[in-house]
Amino acid sequence: MIHDLKRILITGGAGFLGSHLCDRLVTEGHDILCLDNFFTGIKRNIIHLIDKPNFELIRHDLVQPIFLEADEIYNLACPASPIHYQYNPVKTVKTSIMGSINMLGLAKRVKAKILQASTSEIYGDPTVHPQKEDYWGNVNTIGLRSCYDEGKRCAETLFFDYYRQNRVNIRVVRIFNTYGPRMHPNDGRVVSNFIVQALKNIDITIFGDGMQTRSFCYVDDLIDGLICMMNGPDDFTGPVNLGNPDEHSILELAETIVRLTESKSRIIFESLPQDDPRQRQPDISLAMERLNWNPKLNLEEGLKRTIKYFRALLFP
Ligand code: NAD
Ligand code: UDP
Repeated sequence: MIHDLKRILITGGAGFLGSHLCDRLVTEGHDILCLDNFFTGIKRNIIHLIDKPNFELIRHDLVQPIFLEADEIYNLACPASPIHYQYNPVKTVKTSIMGSINMLGLAKRVKAKILQASTSEIYGDPTVHPQKEDYWGNVNTIGLRSCYDEGKRCAETLFFDYYRQNRVNIRVVRIFNTYGPRMHPNDGRVVSNFIVQALKNIDITIFGDGMQTRSFCYVDDLIDGLICMMNGPDDFTGPVNLGNPDEHSILELAETIVRLTESKSRIIFESLPQDDPRQRQPDISLAMERLNWNPKLNLEEGLKRTIKYFRALLFP
């Protein structure tokens, strides 16, 4: 219905998750403002939306203030893979903190609802398993991952201070490893790395012994979760975990991808990066209870769809 249509600002809208969110909300008929500085986002992700009357692209760096009108803001702008967030760590911190301050200020001024894309990284290398929202985390403040982890932790603090001090209508989601089409082929994240290596029949690089675990969520399920949270009850600010609890070792992931791609790649072992978490699995009982959300797609089916995307990208 026309009166339900909203003007929605998506920061980081040309990135992996942002572009899928743009797709969904454009299709629902909302007016979408997609803001991105194209650090890791690419035009190809949103090119099919450019001619739509309800889609607008703004090239802007979120570290700088911007004055816009919006009913809702999804704050996704931030490089998300270790290679990219460690490329310019000071900029990563600025994006999380100054970007959040700029967006929270905007939300306060125009009375918009605002959702923060936080991360499982705020739990660091967790000593509690699986991770529930009331776990405070085990994070190194001065390591190579800290620019991302501490930036995101401080962003959560800012969201809750604006909520308490200024009554801004906030939502905070902690996203666990998500994969799917439009991941950046060179961003170094494990699913995209392994699929690209397998399709090119080159060595698959496991860091460490491959016994570390992650729990992988397919992008469509995650986007459902973001939208459920934005539209959820106003008394439910989060933080809430969003992810798929189906946990796998990195070695298992490599073997599955070799099998699904029928690759001739060898699996090789390289050194483990600093502060690489040993295990990670979301407890999603809060999201299930308050949002009636849970992920639907299993890993093999999600990987098949992602492999299809990368095959078309690499061998057009
Ligand atoms: P991505 O790198 O594909 O997207 C991030 C987008 O933000 C890119 O389009 C990039 O160009 C843009 N951006 C970066 N700095 C900016 C700045 N200063 N100003 C404006 N735009 C800027 O990554 P993604 O996987 O789509 O992640 C989106 C969000 O979700 C991030 O905030 C990330 O921390 C969070 N997240 C993602 C995952 C995951 O598994 N994909 C997990 C946890 C959290
Ligand atoms: N990883 C790996 N080989 C790669 C890329 C990543 O073994 O080519 C490992 C990485 O060390 C980590 C896991 O896979 O243990 C997930 O890495 P990713 O960067 O995707 O996500 P994060 O560590 O931020 O969860």
